[in-house]
Amino acid sequence: MSKLAEKVALVTGGSRGIGAAIAKRLAADGASVAITYAKDAGAASAVVKAIELGGGKAVAIQADAADVEAVKRAVEKTVATFGRIDVLVNNAGTAIPKTFEETTLEEMDRVIDINVRGTFAATQASLKHMKSGGRIIMIGSAVGERVAAPGLVPYAGTKGAVKMFSQALSREVGSRGITVNNVQPGPIDTDLNPAAGDWAVPQKAATALGRYGHVEEVAALVAFVAGPESSYITGANLTVDGGMNA
Ligand code: NDP
Repeated sequence: MSKLAEKVALVTGGSRGIGAAIAKRLAADGASVAITYAKDAGAASAVVKAIELGGGKAVAIQADAADVEAVKRAVEKTVATFGRIDVLVNNAGTAIPKTFEETTLEEMDRVIDINVRGTFAATQASLKHMKSGGRIIMIGSAVGERVAAPGLVPYAGTKGAVKMFSQALSREVGSRGITVNNVQPGPIDTDLNPAAGDWAVPQKAATALGRYGHVEEVAALVAFVAGPESSYITGANLTVDGGMNA
């Protein structure tokens, strides 16, 4: 029996990168999966097709994480399509790498709106429907724990906020049998943080394993947290960073 059979998951920002790998992995484990995306409808529908080709069920929903009403509608559409929601993965996120003093307030707002406000909104809307056994999973960052390089000040601030949001929320929803955990990736090869190029060299060197991670390595941890075997794990920050923060 598949670990996530009969379960329904919503993965925000699931059309590319880490979110797409999570969506595919949760579907492979038996869940019906809704993904949101902001701009790239073609990439989103390719993820849906890949899941369907594997025998799974999936739907793509356009919803900018910075638009709270769109985020709420995405949760409602997930429930309307698949009848329930058991797993929310708050993956949609962005970074605008530059020094803090060069970063405009508008850029800071954008990072906060997507990484924090969108996460709050999706979580609140999902909790309305979630039953015992539910899983709220944040995709935070290793820089929510320790920041090895300059240029990520607002981003690291938002990921620190996501971390404490997870811990605090675990205290409110634990009595309902819902767990809340924060998965913190280190450098993972995606469009946001490509493993090729100057910016990658110090990140790779900072890991114990001397390499970037693959999106599937994050998805494997998320699948475990989403599944039945993680039932006593909540309020935890689970780092998958090749030893960057060791
Ligand atoms: P990518 O930029 O590769 O992919 C981002 C995904 O999110 C795409 O599907 C994109 O869809 C979607 N997205 C972007 N902006 C929005 C938005 N405003 N609303 C809804 N969806 C959106 O990012 P990663 O896969 O690298 O990152 C995913 C998460 O992992 C983020 O939270 C990031 O902070 C975190 N992370 C990443 C690390 C890394 O090294 N890659 C390290 C630590 C954490 P579309 O194309 O349609 O915009």
